[in-house]
Amino acid sequence: MDLHRHLSLFVLLQLATVLAWAEPRVSIDQHQISLTDFRIGYHVDPSQELTFEEVRTLSFTETGNRTSLGTNARVTWFKLILDNTSDTGQRVFVHLPHAYHLKSVAIYQERNGELVHSDLLDMNRIADTDMMFRGTAVYPLFLPADQSTTLYLRSFSYSHQWLAIEVLGAYASRHTLVSINTDIALMVGMLLALVFYNGLLYFATSRKENIFYSLYLISGLVWIALSYGLIASVFDIYGDAIFKLNLSLFTMPIFLLLFMMAIFETKISYPTEHRFLQGLIVLLGGTLIWGVFDISAALKPASSLAALMMVVTLTVGISLYRKGHPLAKYFLLGHSLFVVFNGIAVLVYKGLVPPSYLSSHGVGIGIMLEALTLAFVISHRIKLLEDIRTSQEELKKQASTDPLTRLYNRRFFFPEANYLLELAKEKDIPLSIMILDIDHFKRVNDHYGHACGDQVIIKLAEILKEQSRASDLIARLGGEEFVILLPDTNLLETSQYAERIRIAAEDLEVIANVNKTVHVAISIGVAELDTEQESIESALARADKALYQAKNSGRNRVCRAEPPVRFGSDQLADHFTT
Ligand code: GH3
Ligand code: MG
Ligand code: MG
Repeated sequence: MDLHRHLSLFVLLQLATVLAWAEPRVSIDQHQISLTDFRIGYHVDPSQELTFEEVRTLSFTETGNRTSLGTNARVTWFKLILDNTSDTGQRVFVHLPHAYHLKSVAIYQERNGELVHSDLLDMNRIADTDMMFRGTAVYPLFLPADQSTTLYLRSFSYSHQWLAIEVLGAYASRHTLVSINTDIALMVGMLLALVFYNGLLYFATSRKENIFYSLYLISGLVWIALSYGLIASVFDIYGDAIFKLNLSLFTMPIFLLLFMMAIFETKISYPTEHRFLQGLIVLLGGTLIWGVFDISAALKPASSLAALMMVVTLTVGISLYRKGHPLAKYFLLGHSLFVVFNGIAVLVYKGLVPPSYLSSHGVGIGIMLEALTLAFVISHRIKLLEDIRTSQEELKKQASTDPLTRLYNRRFFFPEANYLLELAKEKDIPLSIMILDIDHFKRVNDHYGHACGDQVIIKLAEILKEQSRASDLIARLGGEEFVILLPDTNLLETSQYAERIRIAAEDLEVIANVNKTVHVAISIGVAELDTEQESIESALARADKALYQAKNSGRNRVCRAEPPVRFGSDQLADHFTT
């Protein structure tokens, strides 16, 4: 069997590798030294108490020169054997690019089984050393010709063990230090721009999701700047002084969850999902408080918490998507990017995947991609809210207008008329009302059909709009009956105005069929309000009486209403004396 043979071959090969295993060594025989990819050994010291004398006799496990060993390896010894195979001595620089996130590093130099030099780099006492340069520890080392030098590094981390070692010549060393962190600065700069943009949005909309999103971004950028060494590199501060900033690792997801609650309005619309998010916030809040007192301990379960958080937020996102929330798909896209890149990073921090540029920058890249997508989600939500507002305005308009003529309806007319009455009182100006009705309209319907009748109503409405001033309030009271309220117009002016409308209506033409054009006439009743004493309803009743009069006296005419019955002091006196 082919598979079987392959398997045995594989086992044999593995056996051969084990038998041939020797400690990894790095050969140096050139002048332009730039060793960035080689093998080293490590030994985890859970007791944190082993001394150099004890460690040198122990066996080391092989790993790459960039390694991540998780949170259970806070004190780890690394062993690096450098063979200078050339016939000249070499001056090199051992770089530890991630030294900024450590508590301390002790370096022991051994040659021919003898300890020749040792150094302690304590991140809390950085002033005592000249080894730290923009977050990178730089250890100068002289390798005598044709000799082997062994370095033991005791790396003491705050939480997870994450170390990289490079061996560089003078030129490469300088070059590396100059180009440090430009990528991280770019990320942080972009996040800052989003924070500002979002702050402006908050001032424009005062929506709290903008605040949560800004705080999420700030937490994210603090964490990125901290954990990728930008803060160390720019401000030259290390150790306990900045380690507490890791609390941003807890505030970041808390603000993301609050953002989700705000943007999806989970409290009102999705109570089950809301409770899950709340539960997670409580859990994260608890860890945050714990972190305030003991950040090293609180960071231990951080990656497991992050995994839980990703599961919950993704599940909630999917659930909202399935329930048809219009923003859920964009949120899911952004959040999936975040989850994928953070997932890789979590695997690196747990020491399950070897670090590479992409994997060890996973959190930063994930935050960046999610931040951009969420910015889109926010702007898309503004558009959705705008759409809702427009449709609400449309509904409001529909509720106040008559669909056939687009004039105001009875429901809108009365409150508006009462308002105009108040205004007329206040300004002490006259206010008049007219009521119109088409003559013998039933006949139009009966002879030419309802559709033709509708056309007549529409055309008459157009005439009313054309003839009226902007300040006039025109409404269709029902059927073929219209009302117009005229501010700053007395009875005489209103009668003249009504006459104009009556004449214009005579010219109205609706083509009923090929050989018939429909003409109509209208009757109008007009009244001037006694603004001090009279209500709109009462004036309308008087005008309606006048309209009845117009109908009774032959139609197609304007009739003025009787003045209202006044109960002023004069009338009252008359009333009692007679
Ligand atoms: P008058 O001169 O006394 O006013 O006679 P009239 O036939 O116009 O009588 P009235 O005002 O009482 O009749 C109103 C008619 O208008 C009754 C109804 O069939 C018709 N009508 C009411 N609303 C509409 C409408 O929206 N479209 C059409 N086509 N007809 C309507
Ligand atoms: Mg009529
Ligand atoms: Mg009528």
